[in-house]
Amino acid sequence: MTRKERKTFAETLAEVRATPARAARVPSGHHGDCWGDQEGNRYDLVTDELSADDAVQLARDGAVVVYDECGCGGSGCDLDWLSDDEARRVAEAGTPDLHPSKHGRANLEHWRSADGRDLVVAAGEVSWGDRITG
Ligand SMILES: [Zn+2]
Repeated sequence: MTRKERKTFAETLAEVRATPARAARVPSGHHGDCWGDQEGNRYDLVTDELSADDAVQLARDGAVVVYDECGCGGSGCDLDWLSDDEARRVAEAGTPDLHPSKHGRANLEHWRSADGRDLVVAAGEVSWGDRITG
């Protein structure tokens, strides 16, 4: 090879321009009609009435799982993001248990990114395995 390994500025610029635009980055948490995960991936709502069985299936299949204890979507407090291992473990532990108190709330939501990632949001008074203890 006779070419120098180092790229010229023009080559680098051409490469950057050729890179397809990435999906819009979204900050972590719930923002109106979308969610963002810790990496900034954007998710759109599939259903806000996800069944407990479907939540298990999604988590088993590799979904990102977030526990939003107070239900504010991260606007008022820190969200509890499960690691991949933790998400797989709660899936093995069985179905989430929703037990809203009289004035409380509990729900499971399914959100999906344009490139097919799944996000499961467990909000409020939900227990799931020994990791989510609302
Ligand atoms: Zn909150």
